[in-house]
Amino acid sequence: MSKGIDIVVIGSGFGGSVSAARLAEASFPVTLLERGPWRDTVPVRSMGIPQRSALPRGWQLPTRLLRAVGGNWMPGSRVKLSKHGLFELFFAKGVTIACSSNVGGGSHVYSAVNVRPLAEKYWEGHHEAISDAVMSPHYDAVLERMGSTTPMADHRIPNTSAARFKDSPVLEPAAPPPDPRLGYLLPEDPDNPVKITDDNGVERYEVDYKGNDDGFLGSPKGGKTTLDTVYLAPALKRGLTVRDMAEVTAIVRLGNEPDARYRIEFINQHSGEREAITASHVILAAGTLNTLRILLHSRDVIGGLTGMPQLGKHFGSNGDYFGFWDYNQAGLDQTVGLPTTGGVRPRGDTEAPMIGGGGLPSVDSYPLPKALRERLKRGTMIAGLGEDDMCGTVSLRNGRLNIEYDTSRSPIFKRIKDTFEKMAAATGKKIYAPKTPITVHPTGGARLGTSIEDGVVGADGQVFDNPGLYVADAAALPRAPGGPPSMTIAAWSDHLATEFIAKHKPR
Ligand SMILES: Cc1cc2nc3c(=O)[nH]c(=O)nc-3n(C[C@H](O)[C@H](O)[C@H](O)COP(=O)(O)OP(=O)(O)OC[C@H]3O[C@@H](n4cnc5c(N)ncnc54)[C@H](O)[C@@H]3O)c2cc1C
Repeated sequence: MSKGIDIVVIGSGFGGSVSAARLAEASFPVTLLERGPWRDTVPVRSMGIPQRSALPRGWQLPTRLLRAVGGNWMPGSRVKLSKHGLFELFFAKGVTIACSSNVGGGSHVYSAVNVRPLAEKYWEGHHEAISDAVMSPHYDAVLERMGSTTPMADHRIPNTSAARFKDSPVLEPAAPPPDPRLGYLLPEDPDNPVKITDDNGVERYEVDYKGNDDGFLGSPKGGKTTLDTVYLAPALKRGLTVRDMAEVTAIVRLGNEPDARYRIEFINQHSGEREAITASHVILAAGTLNTLRILLHSRDVIGGLTGMPQLGKHFGSNGDYFGFWDYNQAGLDQTVGLPTTGGVRPRGDTEAPMIGGGGLPSVDSYPLPKALRERLKRGTMIAGLGEDDMCGTVSLRNGRLNIEYDTSRSPIFKRIKDTFEKMAAATGKKIYAPKTPITVHPTGGARLGTSIEDGVVGADGQVFDNPGLYVADAAALPRAPGGPPSMTIAAWSDHLATEFIAKHKPR
């Protein structure tokens, strides 16, 4: 007999939204706690959500850009700047981590490159019940629900790397990854992007290539496919409860029996009050940085969880290395087109790591002098990525989050730096990159394994020594995907939900 089931999901990014929606749609009672606000976008307005928070634009940009800034050395490990802020930054030793805060998580800020892992045989060798064949249908399911599109010539996307570097003597478009897809609503007629209404009554506008506003500061008109639109909107109609501005501080296991319930403590950021709810099952998906923070704090400070000897080990950055390519070519406007332009490499360098990028949409709304805005339009963000060896550690030191990561252990960083240098030298266009790499793809620390000896969660996503507690986000990934990871996280979460539905009956 299955006991009464009620589920709390923490975080609404790729890990949280997918499992929350799947389980609610299978008739389980699910409450989703998300620290960030609903964003004020065309789709969210059409969903009838009354309290929304503007994306950072214009003079609100300085106050809405950052939610929190943290670091190993910081008292209390972070300073909270604005509960409406879009990004959180954490300055760790060896790497800087960036993540975001919204109902819909990282889908608001990401570049919407929707691909499977580039690392070959990614899911093989971690657990006998998990393999590439087991995971493949979950990628198919999430790519379909995201409505991800393969970009074709018919889409007439301007300013792609393929077009820009086709005839360059020194650079060339990189070969696209297998099955390259994009999470944008591309226009049927690029000269006349229109508003559409989906099967759930959610309204969105097709991407407007000329006035593109769909980048890392969110997508006000819904041209970018976000999780609130495609996962949460239908699930709300099937009974999902979403509590925005609910910041979880701790998870406490109420007893030692295998079916012990959990208490989830959180701050209601609308009222400032501390609240708590209990649940038979908890799915943690607060993003790698905050999932590890919550687990470590709950175990080491509150004493609410026990065990997990591998917690915080094998933290990785997916080899991310960001820079700004000051291309400054007369007539070039990289804000036209999509915020992701496709890969580029030195001509003939077939061994070059994956390097891609895109312009800075919505530059015209930055509160900066016009000359600087025009200069930014003529440049691109540029990023290299690839498999790292996940040598980082995440722990608490005197109650403060402490992350240490050694880039010298992963050859990918030198390969990216060398390639940046080659590209800058060949074109005479400088690439400005910080000494310490920034990652937007933190992974691991609560990894899939076969037992507590080599992992934190098993094949169903459940924490080995805290039954009923699951990790559905990038913290559970056993290895760096080597390319953009969102579809891998979503597929893992979809797998976790499928396993849960197979094992339990709704109340
Ligand atoms: C600028 C940028 C560009 C990117 N481009 C791409 C791309 O093109 N393709 C790709 O695949 N990936 C891309 N990514 C990465 C992708 O966004 C992340 O890998 C993905 O969002 C991680 O999913 P997640 O579920 O692990 O965490 P997230 O999506 O970060 O979701 C975690 C959620 O949990 C919430 N949360 C955190 N703490 C708490 C708490 N205490 N209580 C309650 N809620 C909490 C957060 O607010 C957030 O909404 C990009 C990221 C950035 C920043």
